[in-house]
Amino acid sequence: MARKKEVQYTLSMDGLQIHVVQKSMKSVRFTVYPPDGRIRVAAPLHLSRSQVRGYVDGRLAWIHKQKEIIASIPAEPPLTYDQGEQHEFLGKRVRLDFRDDVSSGRQKWTAAVEGNRLLVPVSPNVAEGMRRQAVERIYRKTLKDFMQDRISYWEGIMAVKVHSFGVRKMKTLWGSCNIRAKRIWLNLDLAKRRKECIESILVHEMVHLKERLHNARFYSFMDEYLPDWKEREKELRGRSGRY
Ligand SMILES: [Zn+2]
Repeated sequence: MARKKEVQYTLSMDGLQIHVVQKSMKSVRFTVYPPDGRIRVAAPLHLSRSQVRGYVDGRLAWIHKQKEIIASIPAEPPLTYDQGEQHEFLGKRVRLDFRDDVSSGRQKWTAAVEGNRLLVPVSPNVAEGMRRQAVERIYRKTLKDFMQDRISYWEGIMAVKVHSFGVRKMKTLWGSCNIRAKRIWLNLDLAKRRKECIESILVHEMVHLKERLHNARFYSFMDEYLPDWKEREKELRGRSGRY
């Protein structure tokens, strides 16, 4: 009979519901997830349930502390795309400034930042959905222009060829690479982050054209091309999208 590779169950302890996963691993790991403080414990398969309980018992104080920290983070109100609302753009806080008198034509959706204002070329009186689309169009254009420029730069250095690239909304990934089609996607939300961070994702996806897996060879390319890629990616962790 094949050995079970994973066992999952819930422990109730100290007023907490704790989701346990036992699988092939060497140590016990505790995670408390924002925004709701969900608790997950991953433990090696060979431990008995009462041993797992013992580990959890030893970490209860820590778990309560984590839940407190998470609960103290104020929930972000949903964006409404109103005139003057604060948004993130290339790592800076900007206020939306909707105006229908800005230039038209090809440059219309090229981001214009004046002081701390992001000029959005539509009237503030259009529907919320249209205001959001206008902001997203600026984000998309900004990322595409950036990719256009940086992809040709990195193609020269890395000796790879990107056949197509684009920007789209993604829930869980900052970027993706279709190795066969040589196509790279970046997450629309990256337009909120600093260019250094956007570039680290772009380089990561381009390195996949040389190495499919996240293995030692992959990371040696990253070290070669962007020696500080770890710091750049660290900045992207945590709450995605908005800060
Ligand atoms: Zn990857």
